[in-house]
Amino acid sequence: MDQSTIATPEHVFARLAAGNARRRLRFGLPARREALRALSEAIRNNEDEILAALSADFAKPEAEIRLTEILPVQAEIAHALRNLKRWMRPRRARPTRATLGMRARIISEPKGTALIIAPWNYPVALSLGPLASALAAGCAVVLKPSELTPASTEVITRIVAEALPEDLAVVCQGGVEMSQALLDLPFDHVFFTGSPRVGRIVMEKAARHLASVTLELGGKSPVIVGPGADLKKAARMIAWAKFSNAGQTCIAPDHVFVSKSVEAPFLAELKAAIAKMYGRTEEAQEASRDLARIVSPDHFARLMALVAEAEAGGARTLTGGKGQAEKRYIAPTVLMGTDPSMGVEREEIFGPVLPVIPFGDAEDVLARIEAGPRPLALYIFERDRSLVERLRRASSSGAVGVNVALVHYFHQNLPFGGIGNSGVGAAHGYWGFAAFSHDKPVLENRFTPLGLFMPPYRGARLVKLAQ
Ligand code: NAD
Repeated sequence: MDQSTIATPEHVFARLAAGNARRRLRFGLPARREALRALSEAIRNNEDEILAALSADFAKPEAEIRLTEILPVQAEIAHALRNLKRWMRPRRARPTRATLGMRARIISEPKGTALIIAPWNYPVALSLGPLASALAAGCAVVLKPSELTPASTEVITRIVAEALPEDLAVVCQGGVEMSQALLDLPFDHVFFTGSPRVGRIVMEKAARHLASVTLELGGKSPVIVGPGADLKKAARMIAWAKFSNAGQTCIAPDHVFVSKSVEAPFLAELKAAIAKMYGRTEEAQEASRDLARIVSPDHFARLMALVAEAEAGGARTLTGGKGQAEKRYIAPTVLMGTDPSMGVEREEIFGPVLPVIPFGDAEDVLARIEAGPRPLALYIFERDRSLVERLRRASSSGAVGVNVALVHYFHQNLPFGGIGNSGVGAAHGYWGFAAFSHDKPVLENRFTPLGLFMPPYRGARLVKLAQ
C-alpha cells in the first residue's frame, strides 16, 4: 500500500518520534543488525522489480543497475553489519590534567528522527544507502525519493514497507511540495542528495529547527589529462565514467582538460573508446542497450540546448551531438573548441556531453579549476608522480581520483562527500554512521576532589596546577 496516501507528513513524523521513544533502550546492536538484514533481504527479494523499474524509468542497462544501484547498497549493509559492533563501542578518551582520575568516554547516540531526500539519478542507491547508515546509527527515517523516477520510487516504497516497521522507516512519495512539507517538521538530521541550488533551500529550512545536515551535492567535476598520461587507459576510463548512466552521475567527469602536447592522440583514443563501448556508427550507438536514456523531456531539452549553444558559438563535435526527443536519447557527445562563456563550461552538464579543453601547463589548468566552485571530484590522469602530487596539493575538491574515475564511490573505507558548493559532511561506511550519530561525551568522576576548584577560592595557584 502507498503509505503516503494514508498518512500526512505530520502523522508519519509523530509515529516515528513515538517509535524512537519506545525503542530508546532497545535499539541496540542486535535490533539494528536485524533491521539491516531485513533491508538487505527485501532488496534481494525485489531484484527483478528493481531491474524492471530502472529500465522503465530511463532504460538503465541491467549491468549498470547491478553495479551501481544494487551492489553499493548491499555492500554498504554488509560493511555496516561487519563493523557496527566496533562503531557502537564506547571510545575511551584519555584524561587531561584538569580531569585526572575521571573516566571519560565517547558514546555514539542516535540523533533521533532523520529525513532522507534523494535524487533521481541513482534512485535506489541514493535512497537505500543512506537509509542503511541511518538504521546502523539507530535513527528512525522518513525517506523521500525523487518524483522523476516513479517506477523506482514504487519499488523503494515496497522494499521499505516489507523490511521495516512503520514506526522505524517510512517512504513519503511526492515532489517539491512533499519535500518542503517534510522539511517544515522538526527532524533531528536531514540527509539530502541533490543539486547545490536545492541544497541551499534544505539548509535554510533545517536551520529553523537547528537540525544538522549532510548535503551531498553536485557541480562540475573536472578531469586533467597530463602530458604523461597513459592515453589509451585514460580515454577508456573517462568514456566509461562519463557515459555510464548517460552521464547523469554526480561524480561523472564533467569536462576534460587535456595537455596541448597530447590533445590529438587523446581525442583519437577517446573516439575509439566510445566506438568500442557503444558502436562505431550513429545507428549502432542508438541501438546500444548499454546506454541509458535521459531521465525526462526537460532534461533532454536542456542538454540539447547546451549542445546547440556550443555549436552556434563555434564548438565542433568530435562524435555525437545528435538526439531523439521521443526516445530521450542523446548520442555520446564530445565537444571541442568550447569557451568559458558557454553553458557547457559554466553549468553542471549532467548528461552524455563532454567538452575537451586544451591547456598549456599546470598553472594554467589549476587557474581554470580555481575559477569555479570546488568540485565533488577531481580526476588526474598522469604517470609522473610529482606532477600528480603538485596538482593534488594545489587544488581543493571533495575527492581525488588518480588514473581512475568514479571508483572511490565504491570504497566503504573512504568518506564520500563534497566541500563548499559540492557538499557538507560525508556518507558511506563509518562516515555514514557518524552522520546520523551524536558523539556524546560521558565524564564520570570517581575520586577526584573538585572542591578545591570551588569558592571560596584560595588563590589562583591551585588553578595554575591544572593548567
Ligand atoms: P534536485 O536537487 O533537483 O532534487 C533532489 C531532491 O530534492 C528530489 O527528491 C526533489 O523532489 C527535491 N526537491 C527539488 N526541488 C526542491 C525544493 N525546491 N525544495 C525542496 N525539495 C526539493 O536534484 P536532482 O535533479 O534529483 O539530482 C541531480 C543533482 O544531484 C545534481 O546536481 C547531482 O550532481 C546531484 N547529485 C549529487 C550526489 C552526491 O552524492 N553528491 C549524488 C547524486 C546526485
